[in-house]
Amino acid sequence: MLKDNLLKKSCSCGGGMTIHMHTLIYSAKVKITGVPVYTCGECSRYEPLPSIKRDLGMLIKELGGSSDKRQVSFAERNEWANVLKETFAGFTTVELSHLEEAINSAIQGRIDLLLDIYQFASASVDREWMEETAIRLSQLTQSSPERAK
Ligand SMILES: [Zn+2]
Repeated sequence: MLKDNLLKKSCSCGGGMTIHMHTLIYSAKVKITGVPVYTCGECSRYEPLPSIKRDLGMLIKELGGSSDKRQVSFAERNEWANVLKETFAGFTTVELSHLEEAINSAIQGRIDLLLDIYQFASASVDREWMEETAIRLSQLTQSSPERAK
């Protein structure tokens, strides 16, 4: 069996799933844009990326409390969604092998940037900023075991 990679995985129906940026409709009234999901080409089932599930769950919980919003950008709250959105925006003709490379280097670039920011926040002894940066970093570094190799 082939190991799932970042861009593709197999669906329970046996079809192939590929990564897309998706707009979710919550409670038939709130649009959540920029959610990275895997979509099946065979049965059209979709599921969020494992690395964003926790943040997406938190957002949905928040929306349950206050429903005055009509549209929310998930990419503004999650580093994975943000990096993927930017990378996809730069791709007009999608060539999977290059896209994966582009995503990997975009993620690595973002991690480097956040580490720099963290250093700077730490040097400025700005605890709040350090914490915020640490949360953004953890969004990218957790649940990506591929990176360990
Ligand atoms: Zn399927």
